[in-house]
Parts: sequence; structure tokens; C-alpha cells
Amino acid sequence: MSWRCPECRSTALDVSVETWARLFQRCGDFETDFDDALDHSHEWDDDSPMKCRDCGHGALTEEFKVRESSAVCPNCHQPLPVEKFMRQDRE
Ligand SMILES: [Zn+2]
Repeated sequence: MSWRCPECRSTALDVSVETWARLFQRCGDFETDFDDALDHSHEWDDDSPMKCRDCGHGALTEEFKVRESSAVCPNCHQPLPVEKFMRQDRE
């Protein structure tokens, strides 16, 4: 599985994740610190916001997901992505 910008084809992407942070509370004020959390795991899925670092296009990760065809790259033997126009025709 892979992700690619549907607008410019870039793979330079940022994704919004859910993670744990330490909550500090003092005198009615509060702040969070990611480095002090005991659990540094983070999660994201098809409904997480994703943003292209090259063109700025933003959408849910589902829109960036590359549908792979049965065709295989002759060099690396990985499945080739189905082009955007083929996805739109199928839907
Ligand atoms: Zn882009």
C-alpha cells in the first residue's frame, strides 16, 4: 500500500496523527508535552487529514491512497499504481 498526491503525484506527504502527551496542570493553567508521555505510539487511518508538502493539496488519506493494478514494475517488481483518470472512470 502506498500514498501519493492526487494533484501533483508527489509522495512528500504529512499526515495528522493521534498520539499521547503528558498533561501538566498547575494553578488553573495547563499544557501538554509530547516528549514526557509514557506511550509514544501514534495512530492514523483513512479518515485522517493528509497534506502534500509540494503543492499544498489537503484531503483525507483515503484520497491519497494509490490503487494498485495487476501490472508489475519490470525493474522493482512492485505493483504499478492505477492512474487517477482510471479511478474516476471506475467509480
Ligand atoms: Zn501535491
